[in-house]
Amino acid sequence: MLYYAKPIARLIEELSKLPSVGPKTAQRLAFYILNSPQTEANKLAQAIIDAKEKTRYCSLCNNLTEADPCIICESQKRDKSIICVVEEPRDIVAIEKTGEYKGLYHVLHGAISPMDGIGPEQLKLDQLLYRAKKENVKEIVVATNPNVEGEATAMYISKLVKPLEVKTTRIAHGLPMGGDLEYADQMTLLKALEGRREI
Ligand SMILES: [Zn+2]
Repeated sequence: MLYYAKPIARLIEELSKLPSVGPKTAQRLAFYILNSPQTEANKLAQAIIDAKEKTRYCSLCNNLTEADPCIICESQKRDKSIICVVEEPRDIVAIEKTGEYKGLYHVLHGAISPMDGIGPEQLKLDQLLYRAKKENVKEIVVATNPNVEGEATAMYISKLVKPLEVKTTRIAHGLPMGGDLEYADQMTLLKALEGRREI
């Protein structure tokens, strides 16, 4: 037996696929949307469509962007001699919020994880190497997550970059082990960046 009208059941089903949204939250959100004015519901739907259709990956750093290259790669104010390597575009947001880092980024879109079948070849490492060679890069700051996968990735990058004589540093461990960069508070992240050490 269906408890809900089919369109409502479908909305709940789609919402419950979102991270951290269980069936109860999905139901609450669905009824919130249904109770809101048509224009608000349309805005939400359109925002989802636009975000998906109008963003792409920066061809230089793989960040999510509307224009290619992204505003960070394009900026004349950024220090192009330093590249901060992160796992996901959302990590860039976390570091940008500290307001201290002025270099460029490189997004790997993941971390080495043999358990999940993710090897170095699945990450954007060739592109990083290319950038490190071509652009006048002096330092690569590895800001992968402080967990097993992030550490393995940092070690791999360190070895990969070694022949290029580019300094490779790893952000310090003020960050909780096993944690995610995006959840770190700004001060902790700032200290971790400042305390980076060579690897
Ligand atoms: Zn970019």
